[in-house]
Amino acid sequence: MDGDFRTSFVREPGSLRHHPALVLNADYRPLSYYPLSLWPWQEAVKAAFLDRVDIVAEYDKVVRSPSMEIRIPSVVVLKDYVRPQKRVAFTRFNLFLRDEFTCQYCGTRGDLTFDHVVPRAAGGITSWENVVAACAHCNLKKGSKSLRQAGMSLRRAPRRPGAEELRNTGRKFPPNHLHETWLDFLYWDAELEA
Ligand SMILES: [Zn+2]
Repeated sequence: MDGDFRTSFVREPGSLRHHPALVLNADYRPLSYYPLSLWPWQEAVKAAFLDRVDIVAEYDKVVRSPSMEIRIPSVVVLKDYVRPQKRVAFTRFNLFLRDEFTCQYCGTRGDLTFDHVVPRAAGGITSWENVVAACAHCNLKKGSKSLRQAGMSLRRAPRRPGAEELRNTGRKFPPNHLHETWLDFLYWDAELEA
């Protein structure tokens, strides 16, 4: 029962550990998609208390300190706009995202691996320009051959994606685990563009 629940902001009762808040930038878009910008509930409460965020939606759960009572925020929006990072980190996930989780040789989706276009054995390096998502079948078929030797071609030339470009791609692949109050903020811009 919420009414019987007493705590302070410093302790972390187990029942509240799983109430993260979706953090929106001042433009009401998620601060980041990958990883999805989530704060532990304590951070969200603290930020609200410090007046750094506005609370957009709340959970039913209430936390109390000796002096105040607050419903745990499920969505908060920053009061000051944070300029998104320009540089895109070269990570496995971002590379899959760039390639839209699609094999760059045959276009299938599903279990993906990484393929060096110019094989490592031939001096190919691990970079945005030389690594693509590939299904196991295509990866095996290509092996350590060059594109020409393997008689294969790429659907598009791999390159470093821009941050905005990757964010837009990210909107097509929202994370699976979403609280219902987050959904509007994950999709609204995508729907406007549709
Ligand atoms: Zn393939």
